This record gives sequence, C-alpha cells and structure tokens, in this order.
Amino acid sequence: MCGIVGMVTAGRDMAADLVGGIRRLEYRGYDSSGVALLNGKGIVVAKDIGGPSDLVGKRTFEGLHGSTGIAHTRWATHGGVTQKNAHPHLSCDGQVAVVHNGVLSNYRELRAALELRGHSFKSETDTEVFAHLIEEKLKKGVPPRDAVRASVLELEGTYAFAVVIHSQPDRLWALRKESPLVVGFGADRTIIASDPLALASFCPEVLYLDDGEMVEISSDGAKVWKIESGLSVDRARCKLEGDFAVPERGAYPHFMLKEMAEATIAVRTALCSDPNAVTRGAEKLLAAERVFFTGMGTAYHMAIFGHQLVAQWAKRFCPVVTADELPGLVFFEPGDLVIGVSQSGETYDTMRAVRAAKSAGGGTLGIVNVAGSSMARECDQALLQGAGPEIAVLATKSALSQAVVAARLALEAGRLSGGLSKERHAELLAELNGLPALLDEWRPKIERDCQEAAARFLGLEKWFFLGRGLFASIAQEGALKFKEVTYRHAEGMAAGFLKHGTISLIDSEMGTVIFVPPTSAGELRAMTIYALEEVRSRGGPLLAVGALNESDRRHVDAVIGTSGKGELSDAFLQIVAGQYLAYYTARALGRDIDRPRALAKSVTVP
Ligand code: GLU
Repeated sequence: MCGIVGMVTAGRDMAADLVGGIRRLEYRGYDSSGVALLNGKGIVVAKDIGGPSDLVGKRTFEGLHGSTGIAHTRWATHGGVTQKNAHPHLSCDGQVAVVHNGVLSNYRELRAALELRGHSFKSETDTEVFAHLIEEKLKKGVPPRDAVRASVLELEGTYAFAVVIHSQPDRLWALRKESPLVVGFGADRTIIASDPLALASFCPEVLYLDDGEMVEISSDGAKVWKIESGLSVDRARCKLEGDFAVPERGAYPHFMLKEMAEATIAVRTALCSDPNAVTRGAEKLLAAERVFFTGMGTAYHMAIFGHQLVAQWAKRFCPVVTADELPGLVFFEPGDLVIGVSQSGETYDTMRAVRAAKSAGGGTLGIVNVAGSSMARECDQALLQGAGPEIAVLATKSALSQAVVAARLALEAGRLSGGLSKERHAELLAELNGLPALLDEWRPKIERDCQEAAARFLGLEKWFFLGRGLFASIAQEGALKFKEVTYRHAEGMAAGFLKHGTISLIDSEMGTVIFVPPTSAGELRAMTIYALEEVRSRGGPLLAVGALNESDRRHVDAVIGTSGKGELSDAFLQIVAGQYLAYYTARALGRDIDRPRALAKSVTVP
C-alpha cells in the first residue's frame, strides 16, 4: 500500500523519471499522488487527488524540475482522500518534505505536543508529524542525518519513509520498519523505492534494507545505519533478480483480462520450478510438529486450497488461519512451521505471522511471487511462483500459480509420507501436468459462458457463492473477486453451512453461484447437489459452475461448463470461472476494473 520513490541524480533533471517511478507503483494505491523536488531555490511540491496517471493526464507535474526528489502514490489510512492529505508533507518552514508508507500509532500525542510548541499542521495524516519533528531538530542545529534518526525514534508504528531537506540538495534519507524499501544503483543516480518495479529500468544492482535500518543516498552511493543504535551497517549490493519489465496492456482493455489470459503460462511456470525445492519444502512440512497455513485475501483462499490437499493426500491436518489472527491464536514453538502465501511477499499481516513464528525459533516457508520481497528473503525457504508482474489489483494468474505450488507441495508430501499410493501419485501428477493443455482448451469456453452469465444475472445485487471441500475455497475466492470489482455483495462459504441459518435469505432476488465438483468426487459432489436443490426449492436463481449432467442442468438457470475430468484439474478451471464472472459483471456495470475503489494490490499496512 502506498508506493514511495526517491531519487538523487548527479545534477540531472529527473522529474519525469520520478513520476515514471510512481506510475509503475500505481497498483499499490491511487487515491492521490504527489512529488517534491529540490530545485535549487527550495522544495517544490505538486500533489492532488488521483493516481499518478490521472495527474499526468491533468498535467499536474508539468514544468517541475530537480535532480533530487521524492514521490508518493497514496492509499489513505489516516485522513480523507483530499489534496491536503496527499503526500509529500512539508514542515512549517517548507525546508523538510516527507513521504510515508505505513501507519503511526502515536501521531495524535506527537501532533498535540508539536501544536503546543507552535507548529501548524496542514493535513489530517499521521505522516505529517515526522516533517515537523525533523524541522525542530534542524532548528536546534542537529545535523540532517541525526535529525532524521532522532525524529524517527520518537515514532511508534510502521513505516517506510523518504525525506528530503532543502539544505542538503544532493542527498535523501529513507528508513524502514515493517514496510518494504529497496535501494537501487544506476549509472548516474541512486533510487529508493517501495518495490523494485519502480527502479528496475535504471538500476541493475540493489540493496534491500532490513527492518530498523536507514539509508542516506547520494548520486554515487548509499550508506546504511541501524536506526536504534546508530551503528553503520556494511551491506553488499546484489544483482536485481526477477522479471521487472513493465508489462504493457497491449490490445486488452484491462490488465485483469490480459493477466487472466496468461493463466496457462503462469501455471506452466509454476509447474516447472525446481522440484528439489518442492521436496525440501515437503520434508519440512512432514518433519514439523505443527504446521499452519496462512495468508490474506486471495492468498488466504489459496492457503485453504493447500491445506485441503495436504489433508487429502498427506493425511496431515495443517490448520489454516488468516494471518491477521494467527499470531494472537498460536503460541509458536521451535517445532512449528508456518507456510505463508503472498503474491507480493510484502503483505503486512502475513509477514507479521511469519516473523512471529521465526522469532520463536519456528520454521517458515513462503509461497511467493515477487523474488527479492521480504517474504522471499526472510523465510527459511521460499517457493517462488514465477507468475511475473501482476498489475491489475485483483489477483488472477498469481492465484492459479499459488494453487499450483501448493498442490505440488501437497503431492510431494503425499508421496513422501506414503499418504498416496504410487499409482495415485502418478495419476495426480499427470493431472497436474496436464493443466496447461486443459486451460488452453477450456479457458475460452469458460470466458464465453461467464460473459453470458454476467449479462443474464446483471440485475441481481446479492449473491451466495457455495462449494464443498476443495471447492469451498474456490467459492470463497470467487465471492472475493466478485465483491472487489463489482461492488456487489457476495458471501462465499462452504455449502454445508447454508442450511444452518443463511438459507433464510434465499428468495428470487438472492442469486447463488454453486461450484460443483466432478462425478469422480463422489460424495462431495452428491452433497453439493443437495445444496443446489435446497436453493432451488426456495426459488433462488442458480448459476452452476462445473460439469453438470442433463438432469442436474434442469435444476439450474445457467451453467458455466468445465471439463469434469478430475477433481484437481476441475478445481483450477473453476477458479478461472470465478475470475471471469467477476470481470464480465464488473465490465457490464462499468466499473474501474484495474483500479477498483478503495483497494490496493499490496497491503503493507496493519
Ligand atoms: N498513513 C499514511 C496516510 O494515510 C500512509 C498510508 C499508507 O501507507 O498506505 O497517508
């Protein structure tokens, strides 16, 4: 959440590059944006409501110049979406500018004290206190670096900050605590950013700041210190690994549609990653005394998917708990293993759960898409998804590749534990490896069915998304996608739960999407069909996803057909169906698909 970028060049005007940097981070937040540049005379700020691309369209950043500057794209936590609350924030005297990703929990007390000392605030944000604290220290003659460090020590909460100070036009300071920050080194510039995507085009080499560290950058390098002790840190630069090419939308109207069309390639890549790493992960899973799957949002649903498969195949019950709740529920011990799932590898809640396990001496395994992210670096082992950059806020191809990695891990755990016979293991492996071909065959048909279903049910404002077993996680994921982008209410749940209260809501205005497993799922399918009948008996409109026979088809209003060849492979096709249904409904409703309201891709705040 929030993207920050800071840049110092060797006297070159880099205003356009700075704006380019936050445009690349726009998926992290886009309610407002801004830049602050040192132009030799003072600090010039341009900021407004709207994402960086909107402001470029409105020419807000035109005519700005400078060789040192900071920039921000905001996802508001404290203070409404207004021009005044947009970052950067200035001190009273305009000599200090700051941008921030995170939340400060003691900002009210600090602000009250600063106001008593005569400071006047222009915004409602938590962030602004930092600029005023630095200003006070500078006025007392404290050198800039010490003023920045001493001020940050007064703050409680989480942050990635970038700071510029008028008196030091050739440098910039950045600091991190539980929010991501990377430093990049280019031929004529040094850059700090929330995410390597913002600096990859200039910087072949990077340095990842650890929690509790600050950096001072100039055009020719960087110095790192521990914030708490003030001791300097010697950290080697590393080559920037991973695919950071800025993706183009091409002929697709939305990144979401493009990324859904990349399902096959994402699945194929996830199937091909190092099998030895998967074996090591499965060994860890089997050796641990307790295993917890965790994640948030879509990644949480894919964690449920993984826990279901591990239960079925390795006969191990590994509870799945949302990452925001996990540290409060489990007193971690050294024999524990936390399997964290996160596309960005920066999700605050998931990283908090991973760190809690780690600090208790437990093991950590990450299923993560972004190489070099906090999760990829901090977990004992990271299984990289390799899905490539995902720009649309809604996770689509990355969800599929998380499911593939989780399935490979479960399959290997099933093999090693003896939970799966040799024959069954071989069958499942063949089914998994057949996924790219199956997706190529079925994705266009699913897309067509979803487009029709979206048009047909457009009048319905409320939905249940139901499924059982493995398909319960798919129903929950489908409902999340639907809510995120259509802004219509959808409740995803295990179909068995319906009759325990929620069924009272079924009537002709409450739609139900039901995810039906193939016949090979036996009892699971039969029980799903019971739920379908229960909805039908109460007159609720029904949309089924799955391979339905003629008699079942008579009980539903429409079907999004899938192959029905196997429970595992059909599950993947049904995830795809949930994504297209959300997409085409949102499109018919005229929603801002790649930038749904109030959302941001990488949730890096508590
Ligand atoms: N708390 C800051 C604000 O609301 C930054 C928010 C964020 O990092 O998402 O402006």
